[in-house]
Amino acid sequence: MEIKAIRGVKDILPGEVEKWQFVERVAREVFERYGYAEIKIPIFEHTSLFSRSIGETTDIVEKEMYSFEDQGGETLTLRPEATAGICRAYVEHKLHQQPGFVKFYCLGPMFRYERPQAGRFRQFYQIDVEAIGEASPVVDAEVLTMLMTFLQRLGLQQLELHLNSLGDAVCRPRYREELKSYIRGHLNQLCPECQGRFERNPLRVLDCKKDGCRAVMRDAPQTMAFLCEPCRQHFDTLADLLAGVGIGYMLDPKLVRGLDYYTRTTFEVVAEGLGAQNSVTGGGRYDGLIEEIGGPSTPGIGFAIGFERLVTVLEHHGLTIAEPRPQVFVAPLGASALRESFVLVERLRGAGLRAEIGYDEKSLRSQLRRANWLGAAFTIMLGERELAAGQVSLKDMQGGEQVEIPLTEVMTFLQERMRKPSE
Ligand SMILES: [Zn+2]
Ligand SMILES: [Zn+2]
Repeated sequence: MEIKAIRGVKDILPGEVEKWQFVERVAREVFERYGYAEIKIPIFEHTSLFSRSIGETTDIVEKEMYSFEDQGGETLTLRPEATAGICRAYVEHKLHQQPGFVKFYCLGPMFRYERPQAGRFRQFYQIDVEAIGEASPVVDAEVLTMLMTFLQRLGLQQLELHLNSLGDAVCRPRYREELKSYIRGHLNQLCPECQGRFERNPLRVLDCKKDGCRAVMRDAPQTMAFLCEPCRQHFDTLADLLAGVGIGYMLDPKLVRGLDYYTRTTFEVVAEGLGAQNSVTGGGRYDGLIEEIGGPSTPGIGFAIGFERLVTVLEHHGLTIAEPRPQVFVAPLGASALRESFVLVERLRGAGLRAEIGYDEKSLRSQLRRANWLGAAFTIMLGERELAAGQVSLKDMQGGEQVEIPLTEVMTFLQERMRKPSE
């Protein structure tokens, strides 16, 4: 019986993987310019880390986690997101004792039991950025500027930054009460799920996608109207810094997060022209999270971008990246030329060229077919006759012209030809 990949899990083959590499390359370049360092955290953690940091009553923890007991009887979970693990590492390695604060990025797979028919993957990849240890709005501005720069550098132009402030422990309780009493007045118009959860988590009703709930919540009280003075100033400074570098934003009062540890700045970036589900990334401040998982009270802010979604958006915007082609293909003709050909192809690779060798020295025709299929720029043919004369035949696979050159000059010849602007 043929064994297939697990449902909702996919292979990323050459042809597509180049786009992923491009995204990764740009991410590393841009993030490092802003002083962010890569952190690699484990793929699995104690289940309690996620239930505490993400929240027991969220969909992720209730329905979507891949949890299992290992041979030693420990309950473990494949990470459904990266923030929790990064914060755990921050506390565990006492990074708060370092001067200044830390700026991390993390690339890698996450795991959630999602419905594959909704275009979601059960193993999906994220770019995750976290700045931990500083509450200043300058950090918020820096994170957002870096995010927008990254997306622009990828080639996305029509981007909309949606911004909101959730307030903090001082001003949010009053907002919550106000929101609850508003919801209570419209309870019969809400979906059963919202009716059940609004007392516990009124902010999630703002997030509900059901038409009835959305209609009711259109006139709900907005967080911005309830901000205390420090929260208001934090937001104003952020807005001013963004304006200074030419980044506009839309105030989006529906942009909320249910958990208490999310504070102040929350954001989302929408790429235009992709229909309803066009958010490419979201994030925000989580000044209460580190404390929640047992660390000292520490502010933090970050965002996560889904790779699959981002690559789809980029393809929509016409991104194509060719697979790397061999620059030269060495075709040995006959057994006696095999050894010299193998030496030559190694020399070429040693000099930094992408070089391939033919595996069937008995048939020139089959080797040329493979060189064509690989898209090699040049093919070098090396047979007994060439060996005796100390020469090779070199064919330009595009133009078709063929020249004989001394074996000793092959390297210089190719290096000169490869220095074309297209390479
Ligand atoms: Zn609802
Ligand atoms: Zn406040």
